[in-house]
Amino acid sequence: MSTPADELAVPAVAECENCGTALQGRFCHACGQEAEPPASTARGVLRSLAAELTNVDSRALRSVVRVLVRPGELTAEYLAGRRVRYTQPLQLYLGAATAFFFVNAYHPFVTFDPKTRGVVSVLNSAGASGRMSASVVRDLAAKGVSLEVFQERFEGAVAGYLPVFLVGSVLLFGMVLALFYRGARRGYLAHAVFALHWSAFYLLLMIVDRLIPRDRAGGGPFGAVLAVIALVYLAMALRRVHAESWLRTVPKAAGLFLLYQFLLSMWMLSAIGLAFAILT
Ligand SMILES: [Zn+2]
Repeated sequence: MSTPADELAVPAVAECENCGTALQGRFCHACGQEAEPPASTARGVLRSLAAELTNVDSRALRSVVRVLVRPGELTAEYLAGRRVRYTQPLQLYLGAATAFFFVNAYHPFVTFDPKTRGVVSVLNSAGASGRMSASVVRDLAAKGVSLEVFQERFEGAVAGYLPVFLVGSVLLFGMVLALFYRGARRGYLAHAVFALHWSAFYLLLMIVDRLIPRDRAGGGPFGAVLAVIALVYLAMALRRVHAESWLRTVPKAAGLFLLYQFLLSMWMLSAIGLAFAILT
């Protein structure tokens, strides 16, 4: 019979089971593996699984809340060396990107409406719309492709190009950040982490925007409100991380925000263009 006290004690094994290093505590100082072997009883397995999940959950929840309501704090914490208590920047971004894909599957950000033959995008704050020409409709009909089938293929093709934006925008944003703050001598890591946190925030903001029901044609006042929120967030985050005056920070925030909107628009237009080129 093992008691809780036994489970907390330093285990009897003297060497790390993974790399053979002599142990000095609960974790191997060479490879990081926990000294205690995983519980073998059903109760022990369930208990460590529950502990693991609550740990991952509380860390993810803490990170998502911080990235949403405390601009720049996660980046500042990471750069100050407090890394274990939050989800890693890349993981957080991949989580936001996964959520973005998931929402896009049910409520596509770029859609084709077979009834109006219109393409509508809600991706950037300005929004975009266009209409399929009569000749393209005739060509599709000649090929025996209905507009409903086209809609399905179109939305699939656009979703297929999403990774290009998700990877490309972070890399370019980080590079421009490095350019704007080249005097700060912080190294590219600081800019990469900032770009990941900002992009995670923006994806989450777009998800929230997508899930609020409203008239999608042509942006509207709600889109403008979101743009202002994002711009203010970006300026506050830059100021927290780089501690420059507002006078220096605001133009950089405006430039970076325009850059991000530009990347989003470029990606959206090329995705729509490529999807049409392939499918018609
Ligand atoms: Zn080890």
